Amino acid sequence: MAETGIDLLAIPPSDDLKYLTGFAPHADERPCYLFIAENRGLFLVPDLNANQSERHIRQPFVTYSDAQGPARALAAARDQFRAPRKIGVGDTMRADAMLLLQDVWRETAFIPASTVLGPLRMRKAPDEIAALRRVAATADAAIEAAVKASRPGATERQVAAAAGAGFTSAGASEVAAAIVGSGPNSAYPHHQTSDRVLKSSEPVLFDLGSRLEGYCSDITRMAFLDKPSARYLEIHKIVNDAVQAALSVIRPGTSIKDVDLAARRVIERADHGDHFTHRTGHGIGLSVHEPPSITHTDEAPLEAGMAFSVEPGIYLPGEFGVRLEEIVVVTASGAEVLSKLSRDLRVVG
Ligand code: ZN
Ligand code: ZN
Ligand code: ZN
Repeated sequence: MAETGIDLLAIPPSDDLKYLTGFAPHADERPCYLFIAENRGLFLVPDLNANQSERHIRQPFVTYSDAQGPARALAAARDQFRAPRKIGVGDTMRADAMLLLQDVWRETAFIPASTVLGPLRMRKAPDEIAALRRVAATADAAIEAAVKASRPGATERQVAAAAGAGFTSAGASEVAAAIVGSGPNSAYPHHQTSDRVLKSSEPVLFDLGSRLEGYCSDITRMAFLDKPSARYLEIHKIVNDAVQAALSVIRPGTSIKDVDLAARRVIERADHGDHFTHRTGHGIGLSVHEPPSITHTDEAPLEAGMAFSVEPGIYLPGEFGVRLEEIVVVTASGAEVLSKLSRDLRVVG
């Protein structure tokens, strides 16, 4: 905070708050902030969430009731933290909560708290890496369940439900995402799972995510109903080679852009550069998308303990798409891939 000139952090119920305290109360329209200054903190929280928070958050509390509203509690916060020059605001804070802060501290500049928390959260501690391994195992189970449920006549939604059950029975506490894209729907990078019926001679993309102990999983694999076409197999191999190329350069000191470029060049050499429409990956931890963003414009070096996805794709509009996604942790000498599943095509039926 001193380096960035931030005098005060204001963190709403969020993954940031979980990172700092191990707990976040329910987030809603009632303003709630953990304020952190150099030598003191204050937790402003609605009455109804105070009790549970007390067990986790070791700062003085200021509370308010629904009937009373937060004005007095906010005035108490202003009295505690007079004239901060810069306030770091949790990036996912609701606009209504943010507007209240702007009204309390009218002379103050507000900047994203990720300036401070991003670099901290990006470098995972050993217990965080262990949690990422545990949640990754639930994602492997979900892929197996999704593959099993995939057959001609099943809908995308039914396959997604099977994936959800796979997550839960493997111990996940929350199913965060279940993208099932069949046939041409696989060409939408973030397809919204629909009632489309799976057909023979088509691929199916599964992009699945869960939470366990607060930490996130994220995995993408491909299946094909019946015998895959030569064209499909060719695209699948290019994408798999792109994943492999990125994995092979990951180690401390490699710049982030070189991870993206390793994958991207494989796809460009195969003349599909314009069908790879997104970055190679995103950081993962308490949030499913967090720093670092794996783009070919970031020169920063990888460091041990960083965790992120490697998920190149090739999307052929109207035809099909292929994406394969691994979560990796940077180790002292390379990359640990958290999934135990092969990226090979799963042929069903
Ligand atoms: Zn995504
Ligand atoms: Zn992802
Ligand atoms: Zn994903």
